[in-house]
Amino acid sequence: MKFENICIHYNNIIRQSDEYDSVKPIRNTDLLLPEFYNTLVFCFNEYQKKYPSQRAYITESYRSNSLQLKYYKTGKSKIRKNGMHHYGIAADVAFIINDKLSYKGDYNYLRKIFKENNLTVLDWELGHVQFIPVSEQSALREEIENSV
Ligand SMILES: [Zn+2]
Repeated sequence: MKFENICIHYNNIIRQSDEYDSVKPIRNTDLLLPEFYNTLVFCFNEYQKKYPSQRAYITESYRSNSLQLKYYKTGKSKIRKNGMHHYGIAADVAFIINDKLSYKGDYNYLRKIFKENNLTVLDWELGHVQFIPVSEQSALREEIENSV
């Protein structure tokens, strides 16, 4: 059971949450796998050491399959359902600069920190970070399906 922690988190926290079917974007970090969230916080702090006037900011954490389908239909995502956001192991990140949401932070540096901490970034989505490599996604989906 390679992904046991993720399966337990999905079944015990995410599936029980009031936000499970939310059609609105969610920022609630309680729905993120704790070890993933803790690593993110560590990385955000590292980023802030170099850029004290900025902070990294999660724009979306968990994502329901209803919202995922909406993103698929509008071309915002290539995935129809069960993306890594749905399992609480992905986040979309922007920045707060001068008290405003901004996409003009140093993504290269932040992504470097993510990679150094064994997180996965995607070539085709600048602000996205996830807990497992893309190559392990189908194995995870299978394990979760068998655990539900
Ligand atoms: Zn994402």
